[in-house]
Amino acid sequence: MKITAIRQGVVPISSAIANAYIDFSKMTASVVAITVESGDGRKATGYGFNSNGRYAQPGLLAERFIPRLEEAGELPGHADGGFDPTPAWTAMMKNEKPGGHGDRSVAVGVLDMALWDAAAKLAGVPLWKLLSDRFNGGRHDATAWVYAAGGYYHPGKDVEGLVEEMKRYLGMGYSVVKMKIGGSPGMPLREALLLDLNRIEAVLKLLDGDGSRLCVDVNGRFGLHAALSYGAAIQGFGLRWYEEPLDPLDYSTHATLAENYGPPLATGENLFSMLDARNLIRHGGLRPDRDILQFDPALSYGLVEYLRTLVMLREHGWSPRRCVPHGGHQFALNIATGLGLGGNESYPEVFAPFGGFASGVPVENSRVAMPDVPGIGFEVKNDLWAVLKDL
Ligand code: MG
Repeated sequence: MKITAIRQGVVPISSAIANAYIDFSKMTASVVAITVESGDGRKATGYGFNSNGRYAQPGLLAERFIPRLEEAGELPGHADGGFDPTPAWTAMMKNEKPGGHGDRSVAVGVLDMALWDAAAKLAGVPLWKLLSDRFNGGRHDATAWVYAAGGYYHPGKDVEGLVEEMKRYLGMGYSVVKMKIGGSPGMPLREALLLDLNRIEAVLKLLDGDGSRLCVDVNGRFGLHAALSYGAAIQGFGLRWYEEPLDPLDYSTHATLAENYGPPLATGENLFSMLDARNLIRHGGLRPDRDILQFDPALSYGLVEYLRTLVMLREHGWSPRRCVPHGGHQFALNIATGLGLGGNESYPEVFAPFGGFASGVPVENSRVAMPDVPGIGFEVKNDLWAVLKDL
């Protein structure tokens, strides 16, 4: 097995939306293509890109990670005779010190995604099938649970606009939706809370008052006081989850919040390694019977590292069903289906063309089926393939 060609590019993933922390008008994404040759005449090209919320990494890719892969030479194959991304991952991470993950984990995640796409293509199977066979005893889910993430702050958008947006998601086949809260800059806490309660109640009304169909997301904006104030105010709604109320790295404050807020919390999309995830599990006070972990494999050194995170979680008494990755991309959807996660995020109206599913595959009752094509399935997602094929 040998990597024979790597190409990279940068594309816009910009949008006029904002969450409580950043606006997305200048966001970019790295895209890569990696060709792997098996040595017996077979070859495949895999594609990767970085998940939304972090920027393109052309410098790190060009200066360190791509040259290391190009210099890796002959790589040992997997015991099943196929391509194994793990030795390639190890070659990429040569001469990297531990800790301080930052944007490095994003660059490695882009390449890791392409390596897994190539591995599944060389095996002639969808990635979810390859993962099911290699790591899950052949078990897999027929469909993945997905929910519609949106409800962003948008210039000029009012409560009516928010409800209309959520209505569109229900019309697309989603039964669970997510909206942003805590994003009114400069507003006193009490005022912001009243405004958000008004927004939440309007959406709940659309959902027949069923809080289990609504998630709210703060994007790490609050300190403990605001997180507790909001928590006390929304506690009675029976929401599906209260997401990232606090800074993602502030574990002991999470533990204090979890002592005071009984319903499900969700966090983890901004933790970029197994070790960071383990610190959250050790010190964050999260509860394996209800809380949701949102580590995004595409942002956190890829699937080679995510497999380590899943092992760590099992060792700490957490089921993979508690994992619902951030990002809304087909890579995480394959992982959710093949490894039995709890589901995957989805962005029906933003972050095109990277989010979403294979073209023409419907969402039914918040579940989606995977296409039966080799690899991750980029070639059957028309808008995304139009971008990737230019590499
Ligand atoms: Mg989030």
